[in-house]
Amino acid sequence: MACVVVHGGAWAIPDGLVESSVKGVQEAADKAWSVLSANGSALDAVEEAVRCLEDNPTFDAGRGAVLNEDGKVEMDAIIMDGKNLKCGAVACVSGIANPVSLARLVMDKTDHVLLVGAGAERLWDEAGYTRVTDDYLVTEAARQEFQHFMKFDKAVVSLFNTQPVEERPTDTLDHETVGAVVVDAKGDIACATSTGGITGKKVGRVGDTPIVGSGAYCDNSVGAASTTGHGESIMKVTLARKALWLMERGKTPKEAAQEALAEMHTKVSGCGGIIIVNPDGHTGIHFTTKRMPWAVRSRYQRKYGIEPEDQTM
Ligand code: ASP
Repeated sequence: MACVVVHGGAWAIPDGLVESSVKGVQEAADKAWSVLSANGSALDAVEEAVRCLEDNPTFDAGRGAVLNEDGKVEMDAIIMDGKNLKCGAVACVSGIANPVSLARLVMDKTDHVLLVGAGAERLWDEAGYTRVTDDYLVTEAARQEFQHFMKFDKAVVSLFNTQPVEERPTDTLDHETVGAVVVDAKGDIACATSTGGITGKKVGRVGDTPIVGSGAYCDNSVGAASTTGHGESIMKVTLARKALWLMERGKTPKEAAQEALAEMHTKVSGCGGIIIVNPDGHTGIHFTTKRMPWAVRSRYQRKYGIEPEDQTM
């Protein structure tokens, strides 16, 4: 059964951003659903969903990306096709409005899987797309968050990791990485994830997002997963692949989402979120942070949520 699931990042999303975050994921899920309704592929649908979220300044991906320790944007993205395990990814790219489409170019136009920095950006130019300036990508919210980080030298890692959910601040940083997983009517499955990373990250830091099996993974015979949360923790447990491994061993998407995140917490004290879809269109949505906006769209469902008690799928 064809189905779209979208997330807008697991984090302590401030109250003021709840409405725009939920609206943003619903809009992205609807756009991906329109692609499927017009007989488009799962791959085209995940790209469309993530492009929509990258264009939305509410989220930490494309326009709205957070800033590194030098106050600059460096973005990571991945896209993967479950039919043939083809994937493309980019890391540390700047001046690109839609890093997920650059990741798609890596997949479609090169023999490589992951390109970084200037080499990846050159591919964008060669494809005839124009670059954007930081005036487009950097929002006032990202600037303020960076200044807050520089002033208080906030330990971002501790916000993801060690503090219990109820003690984490709700009014500070926003880190809404975005992602989508889709199964289409033919049973083809795809996933994509895109992020600006973590405010104040070291120049050249690459997170989990563009790492195959960490930020995303899919295989037509099992399902697809897209992750969000503390990248250094996600990479250590290869969260997306871990979830699919659990499904290969008989877990439902919901069980796999819960168990993979529980293991990440037990082993490396990391928090985050994950969305999963399997070939039957069953979904798993779970997060161990305060909030994570998500939306599901299929012929019979149009659901969304953001609070832990919404984790009902
Ligand atoms: N996983 C992303 C990173 O570490 C951040 C996030 O999902 O909010 O780059």
